[in-house]
Amino acid sequence: MYQIDDMRAVLKNKLSEKRYEHTLGVEYTAAALAMCYSADIEKARIAGLLHDCAKYFPGDKLLSKCKKYDLPVNKYEKNFPELLHAKVGAYLASSKYGVKDEEILSAITWHTTGRPEMTLLDKIIYIADYMEPNRDKAPNLSTIRQLAFQNIDLCLTTILDHTLTYLKENGSVIDPTTFATYEYYRR
Ligand code: FE
Ligand code: FE
Repeated sequence: MYQIDDMRAVLKNKLSEKRYEHTLGVEYTAAALAMCYSADIEKARIAGLLHDCAKYFPGDKLLSKCKKYDLPVNKYEKNFPELLHAKVGAYLASSKYGVKDEEILSAITWHTTGRPEMTLLDKIIYIADYMEPNRDKAPNLSTIRQLAFQNIDLCLTTILDHTLTYLKENGSVIDPTTFATYEYYRR
């Protein structure tokens, strides 16, 4: 497996400056959340670093990679192939960066849509991706940032709630996995 420093060096080369800064933001935010909830700090850092490692590929490239590596693509992903950066990212984390840890690979795989029954590390990466310090678009960020360190599940449902409302207001089609995650955690 690559050392964290080497991962950073490769990513700095591949990603845009903005995406790289975001990546570092997710790395240390995930580390802080891992400290707060006694999760594995190193795993959180690695998952944070690599979560967007396939983000620089355009949609058609992501689709062709899925075909090549035999990764399943659903109907929704076919229409919105950018979503596939998560699955392809997990694939690259394993094949290129040598990460074989299932928890890390799962957190990378589910970082955009979430999923029902998320692990602690899944939640940490999902939340860190939403609230890392370089983010400034979401309207409720200060609440989310406080909540993240107080009640991780409530933080998660709050994010899902806002995401679903936002998607609905914009008339966007809602990814079935995002919706399933929302339905699962709403209860
Ligand atoms: Fe992403
Ligand atoms: Fe991200």
